[in-house]
Amino acid sequence: MSVSRAPSNVLSFEDARRVVEEQAAHVQARGTEPVDLLVAGGRVLAELVLADRDLPPFPRSTRDGYAVRAGDLAQLPATLDVIGEIKAGEKIDRIPSRVGSGQAVAIMTGAPVPAGADAVVMVEYTTGHGERVEVARGVAAGENVVPRGAEARQGSLLLDRGLRLTEADIAVAASVGKSELEVYRQPRVAVLSTGDEIVDVDDCAPGPTQIRNSNSYSVASQILKTGGQPVVLPVAPDEPQKLRRLIDEGLKSDLLLLTGGVSMGRYDLVEQVLSEMQAEFFFTGAKIQPGRPVVFGKCGAGTSDRGRSLGSTYFFGLPGNPVSTMVTFELFARPMLEALAGQRRHKLVFLHARAKAEIRIKPGLRRFLPAILSGEFENSEVELVTWHGSGDIAATARANCYVVIPPDRESIRAGDWVAVMMR
Ligand code: AMP
Ligand code: MG
Repeated sequence: MSVSRAPSNVLSFEDARRVVEEQAAHVQARGTEPVDLLVAGGRVLAELVLADRDLPPFPRSTRDGYAVRAGDLAQLPATLDVIGEIKAGEKIDRIPSRVGSGQAVAIMTGAPVPAGADAVVMVEYTTGHGERVEVARGVAAGENVVPRGAEARQGSLLLDRGLRLTEADIAVAASVGKSELEVYRQPRVAVLSTGDEIVDVDDCAPGPTQIRNSNSYSVASQILKTGGQPVVLPVAPDEPQKLRRLIDEGLKSDLLLLTGGVSMGRYDLVEQVLSEMQAEFFFTGAKIQPGRPVVFGKCGAGTSDRGRSLGSTYFFGLPGNPVSTMVTFELFARPMLEALAGQRRHKLVFLHARAKAEIRIKPGLRRFLPAILSGEFENSEVELVTWHGSGDIAATARANCYVVIPPDRESIRAGDWVAVMMR
């Protein structure tokens, strides 16, 4: 069988990543929809969230104690007249209109500080005697009080479009009265695993040389985690016509992720079939391990049932070895999926930890090696798992991160700082 591939174009990791980011900058999200705030976590915000009033809406006490005029505490101990008590949520007409010189108001955390007072002295530094209180410590003006509008002014921007909503963002939305948010629709991502040896998970008796399909499931899980909707297609055999039919089907989604069939073997047909379909290839490999044969391109999606042209769809050919599939999804498919999901672009961020033991590698490729990050606070350390290469799912499941080693390093000494990519 003669295999006509796309011209080889193997990039450094940085260049390959840049190419994906450049393409990702051109894609559009797929419209918007409203969601209930309770289930909006993890979705991508498609509207601006503004402060509907000043935050806090009144000068807020951050302590239980006494609202005072700081100047009254120049001489200590000081004795002040207690003219009232304010609890959180106090009715406005029960709040003393003004705290005068020599006066104090008992106040609780979260309650509004009355006019005239400029600080709150903590209850711990006071001794109450009925209508009077003795204060043993001074306070600076402003201490233990958050002024009205200090956190945000009415009308100011709190959350921008393109934000993947965290619990902190949800809290902000709730605090300005948004029980529903407009978010971007989740992109549909087709998953197409390939390989004659691959059988379904439900196959109760795989033949002695058959392998259960794990990639479709790990990739679907990564898609869900990244905010997409997986559309898992049947496994494609290593046979051009059937593969092509399934690729055609996959190109109808917003993104197509293939696994397997992109190495140099005689039956690795993914590039060949996509070439025949006039696909454009941005790269056909990246200098990384695992995941070197990763392919990125774009292919016309044909016409809809009503004859409308569907434009073109980005695809990634992820290498079939399960760990390569996971790593290349993380490094390359993720930024494209995030862009399709309407998410603002952000840089890859790596943590750093000390290597627990020496690591020796051959230079030339940027490595992403399964590892275990452990230790607490300042003592985090990381250690490679023992593995049998990029097909070793069991070792990778024991790992909780990847150690990232630059291509010019031959060894990392025990105790050296190394970059760590979390999963
Ligand atoms: P390939 O990239 O097609 O050469 O496959 C590389 C290795 O990954 C082979 O050992 C395959 O059996 C294995 N592999 C490919 N696809 C899958 C899959 N969907 N699930 C599990 N293993 C796979
Ligand atoms: Mg294969």
